[in-house]
Amino acid sequence: MTYQHIIDSNRCKGCGLCVGVCPKHVLEIAKEVNVKGYFPAYQARPEDCVFCTTCCIMCPDVAITIVELDAVPA
Ligand code: SF4
Ligand code: SF4
Repeated sequence: MTYQHIIDSNRCKGCGLCVGVCPKHVLEIAKEVNVKGYFPAYQARPEDCVFCTTCCIMCPDVAITIVELDAVPA
């Protein structure tokens, strides 16, 4: 199955919790602010993401989601 990792950058408050818990060191804090004036997290190395959902669970603002892309009925 194929998954997509999505960070809602305008929901993110840039706390960095997700960056610290990612076991694959995928995430970093951006150098540009979002609409709220926070520096949001982003996937700096998306190719290393194993879609473990740890960052989604950790985020206090529910800014990260993982969706299944190929959920096509047989
Ligand atoms: S899903 Fe897992 S591997 Fe991917 S960015 Fe989040 S914590 Fe890292
Ligand atoms: S844990 Fe959530 S609010 Fe904090 S930096 Fe990551 S995405 Fe943003």
